Amino acid sequence: MRSFTFYERVSRAFNDYPSLSKFLVVFTVSGGGLVAYAEANSTNGAPAIASSESENVKKKVVVLGTGWAGTSFLKNLNNPTYDVQVISPRNYFAFTPLLPSVTCGTVEPRSIVEPIRNIVRKKHSDVQYCEAECFKIDAENKKIYCRSTQNGKDEFVVDFDYLIISVGARVNTFNTPGVEEHCHFLKEVEDAQRIRRTVIDCFERASLPNVSEEERKRILHFAIVGGGPTGVEFAAVLHDFVKEDLVTLYPRVKDQVKITVLEAGDHILNMFDKRITTFAEDKFGRDGIDVKTGSMVVKVSEKEISTKEMKNGQISVLPYGMAVWSTGIGTRPIIVDFMKQIGQANRRVLATDEWLRVEGCDSIYALGDCATINQRKVMEDISAIFSKADADNSGTLTVKEFREVIDDICERYPQVELYLKKKQMSDIFDLLKESKGDDTKESIELNIEEFKSALSQVDSQMKNLPATAQVASQQGVYLAKCFNRMEECEKNPEGPLRFRGTGRHRFRPFRYKHLGQFAPLGGEQTAAQLPGDWVSIGQSSQWLWYSVYTSKQVSWRNRVLVVTDWTRRFIFGRDSSRI
Ligand code: FAD
Ligand code: MG
Repeated sequence: MRSFTFYERVSRAFNDYPSLSKFLVVFTVSGGGLVAYAEANSTNGAPAIASSESENVKKKVVVLGTGWAGTSFLKNLNNPTYDVQVISPRNYFAFTPLLPSVTCGTVEPRSIVEPIRNIVRKKHSDVQYCEAECFKIDAENKKIYCRSTQNGKDEFVVDFDYLIISVGARVNTFNTPGVEEHCHFLKEVEDAQRIRRTVIDCFERASLPNVSEEERKRILHFAIVGGGPTGVEFAAVLHDFVKEDLVTLYPRVKDQVKITVLEAGDHILNMFDKRITTFAEDKFGRDGIDVKTGSMVVKVSEKEISTKEMKNGQISVLPYGMAVWSTGIGTRPIIVDFMKQIGQANRRVLATDEWLRVEGCDSIYALGDCATINQRKVMEDISAIFSKADADNSGTLTVKEFREVIDDICERYPQVELYLKKKQMSDIFDLLKESKGDDTKESIELNIEEFKSALSQVDSQMKNLPATAQVASQQGVYLAKCFNRMEECEKNPEGPLRFRGTGRHRFRPFRYKHLGQFAPLGGEQTAAQLPGDWVSIGQSSQWLWYSVYTSKQVSWRNRVLVVTDWTRRFIFGRDSSRI
């Protein structure tokens, strides 16, 4: 009772004084080195707008989903002029990067979830939560149709002024036969709990006296389909669990355990730096984890996985005891339906503009895994940019004229800066100079054709953002800050020039800041790829991983629980009870 009050007080202090949590520094000593990590996510954005008239006419904001995007939006929204309604079948937020740790009991499931009502309770504005699933969005009439998840029958309709779609994605089976029926997924907390039970089931079943040698081998074969970060991390934690805990508990069967990672591409972790991929493959090789690359799963039956070799089309059959499918994500049915409704049927995910507004729907926003930003191409607007920049309508662009709009161009089209960086150019004038031969900087004057040729390659630098928690949470923070300052920015727009219209955009467009990526590889070894292509592999990165994941928890309660779980594991090992 006493300690709970203490934590509540501490967490309140951090809530009321966000700068405290901003400078939370987790120091970890590792191999003689000191690693410090400052939490980048502040919980408060711009000051709230206190409008007297808004007391009467509160705009209705409906948030769909309580994942990374929806929760970070909610946590950062502090404008009391909105009436906020959160709708999600899951009444908690789950810290997904620690889900692989839940599969083997390194961390307990309740340590990585935070009830959404705890988060809502701390808001000073009007926020209501409903445990339901939205099954239809009516953009035209600004209504959503929801169904209770309690009995799957009770339906209700909710009106909105603004809709925030953050429903995430679903598992993608690529319609491979047998996957739905026989494979485990690793997407939700329940999935991780099921996997934990099944691993123990396999060991207990293999230990029964009437099981043949061949059958024992099959039962203890753990197949992981997909060599991405989730599949690789799961293989690593499973290997640790077996090596550190289960071999001593099941000594008779320990030699029959086998872990296989099946990957259709040439390498595992292929989104990481080559050094990390090579290290991971070598480490798995040393650990006895079989990595089969160039091997595509074509069918899964109750006891066997059929794979096709990408090189020669040869089909092989692998008997297995437990299979985990982790090959990527697909679109949720509600999003597919909505995309059809708004003319985006040919897309894979919902397209938004750079302000996260769904294309063609002014008051609907989409963020996180269910959406992608459709970055506007410079070449689509090149004539508009030219005429706006040519202030004296001379038909040519001087350096002075160009200087006036350069910041707006870079803000509106981030690919320009990326292109300059790639070409190692110090500023955009170097680009213009290139198309004008050897003119000196100040005397450059370009006509439209020369301007087009100077910028013709910049769009090659456009990239879609990855479907990660990092992107989703930064988008949530960004959108909340926009909503916090909606009225203010309506009056004094702060965004870049509207090249195809008049005036300025209300807000600056969303900009993603990549903070780095981890790949835990087991045995207290983690690979980290940090901004600037800085790669660090080994135990010190493992400590950085502990620090970052501690500080990124959404509440102090979670931080304490996760650290306690890790300590418990260090002292007592993982619990292998099948509950
Ligand atoms: P989610 O977090 O999936 O949230 C979606 C929410 O919408 C849920 O609350 C769901 O219940 C709700 N919902 C679903 N359908 C409806 C509906 N019809 N109506 C209303 N609500 C609905 N990313 C990283 O950056 N780093 C990592 O280390 C990392 N590790 C990961 C490990 C695992 C095992 C997994 C599965 C993912 C990992 N990710 C990681 C990816 C990250 O979890 C996702 O990118 C992130 O969750 C996306 O956030 P989101 O808000 O879009 O969706
Ligand atoms: Mg001019």
